[in-house]
Amino acid sequence: YRAKSYKTGVSVYNEQWGYEAVERLQLVQALGHAIEHDQINIAMQPFVSVESGELTGFEALARWRDTVRDVEISPGTFIPLAEESGLMPAMGRNILRKACETLMRETPDSDLRVAVNISVMQLRQQDFIDDVATILASVGMPASRLELELTESVFAGDVMHIRQVLGTLRDMGVKISIDDFGTGYSSISYLRDFPLDTLKIDQSFVAGLRNGGEGLFSSIVSLAHGLKLSVIVEGVESRNDLDKVLELGGEEIQGFFFSRPIDSRKLGEWLQSHSQHPFTMRRRHLSMA
Ligand code: C2E
Ligand code: MG
Ligand code: MG
Ligand code: MG
Repeated sequence: YRAKSYKTGVSVYNEQWGYEAVERLQLVQALGHAIEHDQINIAMQPFVSVESGELTGFEALARWRDTVRDVEISPGTFIPLAEESGLMPAMGRNILRKACETLMRETPDSDLRVAVNISVMQLRQQDFIDDVATILASVGMPASRLELELTESVFAGDVMHIRQVLGTLRDMGVKISIDDFGTGYSSISYLRDFPLDTLKIDQSFVAGLRNGGEGLFSSIVSLAHGLKLSVIVEGVESRNDLDKVLELGGEEIQGFFFSRPIDSRKLGEWLQSHSQHPFTMRRRHLSMA
């Protein structure tokens, strides 16, 4: 490894590498600034009950508009950046707080829940449980209205410790769900050994239903139900997707067919129009009951 000069761009590596390194550094700085100035926002995407068509809650999704360059940066870019640069604890805390505040501001007297994506890195923080308890208390939100979404990466590394942290959170009443299920480590025994409530089937399996993936999809649903986990199906984009999912099972659905993620600042407006035009779940092929 040889250090390179950013000024001249001369190094054993190509120009492109140097450019990316500088870009990246600037992006980390801009992200740090955005976190400090409370510019990371959230969008809320509805969960819908398969049985009733009713709204059951929302997933909070982080959003960042870099105001200097005036561009929207996707969470797929800035979440890993925050994790790698040490900004995640602060950012994650802000997102969690904002998600809870939004839910309590817009739907104070309901049992709608909010699901927040949590990096494994946050679970490893010493004070994560305290953070959650503090935020719930200061917002006045029952723990049962909070769900934490974790990816299968929680099943790697310090499994004993993570399982304990999740156990404590669950004892508090917080729900735990596994996100993007089927795309990561498929250590199925962990689904039994970890304290979990919900399994979110990754959207790629819904896409798979468009060309013969029914067997795989329903196997995942059976697996979840066999382990007493409730199922959320992600990525339902069309009436056609919905009909297939209604046939194959799952308790809740999320996807563009119902709603895109909604800017948290416009959630009140959305809720008002939704109350006039609620979701419907007509099955095209009703079975003989
Ligand atoms: P995810 O948690 O699996 O979130 C679902 C993603 O799918 C979201 O993308 C959402 O906008 C998108 N989506 C929802 N419905 C549909 C659909 O019908 N079709 C398609 N094609 N996509 C759909 P988004 O908001 O870009 O987030 C991407 C990922 O970034 C998330 O995937 C999550 O892993 C991560 N992320 C987002 N916010 C946070 C956060 O606050 N903390 C952490 N740790 N990760 C986050
Ligand atoms: Mg998620
Ligand atoms: Mg997901
Ligand atoms: Mg996903």
